[in-house]
Amino acid sequence: MIIIMHPHVTEGEIQGVELKLESLGLKAHVSRGVERTIVGAIGDERKIHKESLQALPGVEEVIRIVKPYKIVAREWHEADTVINLSGVPLGGKAIQVIGGPCSVETPAQMELSAQGVAQAGCRLMRGGAFKPRSSPYAFQGTGVEGLEMFRAAAAKYQLPIVTELMDVRMLEVFMEYQVDVIQIGTRNMQNFDLLKEVGKIHTPVVLKRGLCATVSEWLMSAEYIAAGGNHNIILCERGVRSFETAYRNMLDVSAIPFLKKETHLPVIVDPSHAGGKAWMVPALSKAALAAGADGLLIEMHPTPCDAWCDADQALTPQELSRLMAELRPLAQVLGRELTN
Ligand code: PEP
Ligand code: MN
Repeated sequence: MIIIMHPHVTEGEIQGVELKLESLGLKAHVSRGVERTIVGAIGDERKIHKESLQALPGVEEVIRIVKPYKIVAREWHEADTVINLSGVPLGGKAIQVIGGPCSVETPAQMELSAQGVAQAGCRLMRGGAFKPRSSPYAFQGTGVEGLEMFRAAAAKYQLPIVTELMDVRMLEVFMEYQVDVIQIGTRNMQNFDLLKEVGKIHTPVVLKRGLCATVSEWLMSAEYIAAGGNHNIILCERGVRSFETAYRNMLDVSAIPFLKKETHLPVIVDPSHAGGKAWMVPALSKAALAAGADGLLIEMHPTPCDAWCDADQALTPQELSRLMAELRPLAQVLGRELTN
């Protein structure tokens, strides 16, 4: 941390900063220039509130020099992390596509969905049994019964399941149903108590980006999970809220190469919630892979117009198969692999 002092700082004020740093367990290194005096704080600055120094007399500005996150930062772990999702690797050379409906509806819908996901060549399946809806009057998900339907349908095709956890009280039930990958949705990206709880287990977590979250806030949320001991974290960009109203969200393609540089964790993209329209999904999927994404999370429904949730953005099983066929040669050109 670097503390820049006011131009007319007094010796007493400089001493005040030195004493404060010492009381916080850091060492001070004072460098007196012609115009300015700068105090360098030596030690682990992550434990220190910038504000507690900023408020001291004579201090003009406090600048952090290390990143606020550590475990998830690439500077602490150079190699790409590959996560084992019940036998399916995510990260590294392989690209994985997680396909499935927005929500778990009926056993028949789940059976057809699982069949469609497997036939398209996806190795993982998604589906929400607990749905975060803007309206309390909208369909809220089929709950535990939904988990049951999901497990049964996916097991038939040996597909590991990805499903959203909204309430910490359901974690035990998720464990009982052996949920392979827990999704923490956009609206819960900063539900810190929920993050701490999934940090205590080893089940892989897909952490979606908050509606208006900066990349740094998102990585801090990942750090919450990692700090508890669970390093099996996958980041999922799903579009952010913007001034544009023509489509659901704005896919932040720039975040993908940025994250790949900043963190060793795998990064996937959800083109369905980004565009909010089925016809946009192929283009956004290709953009995501070209930008370096390690996988995709795509909504598919056996009959989209009958979907109980997000009907507009669901691909048909045939459309998913077609998209997979288009993505395979693209993956190859990019030096990646999309296999089934
Ligand atoms: C979902 O994946 O079904 C979902 C609700 O996504 P998000 O949290 O990105 O809105
Ligand atoms: Mn959805």
